[in-house]
Amino acid sequence: MEAVSVQYLKGVGEKRAQDLAALGITTVRDLMGYYPFRYEDIQERTLAEINDQEKVTIKGVVVAPAVLNRFGYKKSVLRFRMMQDHGVFSVSFFNQPYLKDQVVLGEELAVYGKWDAKKKALTGMKILGSGHQGDFAPIYHVSQKVKQKTLIPLIRQAFADYGDQIKENLPLALREKYRLMDKAAAMYAMHFPKDPAEHHQAKRRVVFEEFFLFQMKLQGLKIREKSVSQGLAIQYDNQRLKAFIASLPFTLTAAQQKVTNEICRDLLSPEHMQRLLQGDVGSGKTVVAAIALYATMTAGFQGALMVPTEILAQQHIESLNQLFDPLEVTTALLTGSTPAKERRVILEELANGTIDIVVGTHALIQEGVEFANLGLVITDEQHRFGVNQRKVLREKGWRPDVLFMTATPIPRTLAITAYGEMDVSIIDELPAGRIPIETRWVRPGQLDSVLDWSLSELGRGHQMYVICPLIEESEQLDVKNAVEIHDHLAAFYGDRYQVGLLHGRMKNTEKDAIMTDFKDGKTQVLVSTTVIEVGVNVPNATVMLIMDAERFGLAQLHQLRGRVGRGAEASFCILVAEPKNEMGKERMKIMTETNNGFVLSEKDLELRGPGEVFGFRQSGLPQFVAGDLVADANILEVARSEAQSVWQMKDWQLLPDYQELAAEISDPEKAFFD
Ligand code: ADP
Ligand code: MG
Repeated sequence: MEAVSVQYLKGVGEKRAQDLAALGITTVRDLMGYYPFRYEDIQERTLAEINDQEKVTIKGVVVAPAVLNRFGYKKSVLRFRMMQDHGVFSVSFFNQPYLKDQVVLGEELAVYGKWDAKKKALTGMKILGSGHQGDFAPIYHVSQKVKQKTLIPLIRQAFADYGDQIKENLPLALREKYRLMDKAAAMYAMHFPKDPAEHHQAKRRVVFEEFFLFQMKLQGLKIREKSVSQGLAIQYDNQRLKAFIASLPFTLTAAQQKVTNEICRDLLSPEHMQRLLQGDVGSGKTVVAAIALYATMTAGFQGALMVPTEILAQQHIESLNQLFDPLEVTTALLTGSTPAKERRVILEELANGTIDIVVGTHALIQEGVEFANLGLVITDEQHRFGVNQRKVLREKGWRPDVLFMTATPIPRTLAITAYGEMDVSIIDELPAGRIPIETRWVRPGQLDSVLDWSLSELGRGHQMYVICPLIEESEQLDVKNAVEIHDHLAAFYGDRYQVGLLHGRMKNTEKDAIMTDFKDGKTQVLVSTTVIEVGVNVPNATVMLIMDAERFGLAQLHQLRGRVGRGAEASFCILVAEPKNEMGKERMKIMTETNNGFVLSEKDLELRGPGEVFGFRQSGLPQFVAGDLVADANILEVARSEAQSVWQMKDWQLLPDYQELAAEISDPEKAFFD
């Protein structure tokens, strides 16, 4: 449909056009697609069916005339009686005297209000009239300047004048297969459904279309990327790789073996690898990364491992250096705090190919870094490495294979949305011999008894983390909080145990020293802000105490919990929390019930929604108008596989029934990178 300005509609002048534009409506098409966010459901319900204090719309006949009583300044009550079937009830409206004219004896009326079952009385909030918008009236997000009353006739008019220009964009085969409504009928019914059943069908069609078009573009983009530029075929040395794997201090779990094979296959293939490696905390992703990097090195390419924090970068380079023979593999660590001189040398050696493997923070791909021949980029714990970063790589003209590792399992619906057609590998088992962590939820008042209990754990020679609440508004408050908790604990343990303190305001050298003291057992208790969150590995720590746990997301709590249970001893996670609502309580409860990160992240998504869990902006997740990634997950799956089938048809764009679809997705790039 052409982009016709709303000004072409009767009654829309410059002023009204401006007001509509403020709602994001500039074209007639926008108006037609400005769907209501809910409907006033005035299905006839008998009085007996309505719960006490429920807000409902009741339809009936006015059986006693309206009486208006005024009292005081501006105060009034309007009372009348209505009858539904044979039940009579009273209605009162406060401070809306002007409604009196609308209440006509003997006429049918629909009133919205709050029902008092005992008194058989409705406290009215709104009169909907009788024959107003049908029985299932749309309710829109409106503004001061554009009211429901203005918008509804405009939308009707848009459909009356331009409805016949709406072109069907789904091929008949699909519409038949899934019994989808026609596009024009569905769009109209999104606004003015005859009944809930018709609305349901309209919504199904609109959501399917939205997801399907998105998937068509995403997959088209991928196919095009493959055709314009080849990936790298990383011909690694299989003998050396086998020897390296045999030299590891443990045997790979079956799951590690499986994902290693999947990754190696991708490396060899000239196709561009985009693989997501998911594995719960402690499942052993680091060693898989090491194997992939090693393989890349044997093929004469460089590898980069990117992580979100310096502490994690530090730890990764240490783990890698333990696994690699320094005579064989040259590694480097590059972060924001690498001294200038050292940095210069590293940059030079990356550019001339001396360095085989570099570990660093995210800036690694952004800060004027040149590689001699970058073959593989691995990002760890970085689900925010979305479309935008992939674009950065591409703009630099680099075509490395990319592996994303995450311990925050991304539910499948989100993975296929945010990462498109990324291949997914899953490590679904932990190395043998791990004892499940026992999680308990206590109230703040029980903190003292928790500390008493901690004496026995510390008495066994174990160690404990204490995580301070995260105060997002201010890093300063974060620090203050951490200092207070530290002092409280230091006073409690006295000279029995040493308490360390770690927070984001410290210099890196300071952080290192504190971490090292804890690793070496010089401090037994470590109070920390969430800088510790990801990746830290101290197997002797068996207690994770999290203050104000309700402030953290489930995925983050799970990450924190994963810092213990890394050795052979039984471990504990104590959540100190006073949740303010049912959702908060539910989140604490589920933490005590499961150790499975996948279950938790699905739950988190269900409770908080994808925006909260992932942050739309950073993650590069698109925002859908009608579709809901959680509620409509099954439609997304179907849309995805149907899009795949379409792309598998040779020259589908030439088929008569696919013309409109082809036109609509002809510029897939646009949808993502603007
Ligand atoms: P994550 O997946 O959380 O990054 P890590 O890679 O840090 O997990 O591994 C957690 C711990 O398990 C490390 O101490 C690592 O050495 C150890 N580990 C990894 N794989 C195995 C294995 N196959 N058998 C025994 N221990 C393993
Ligand atoms: Mg890790």
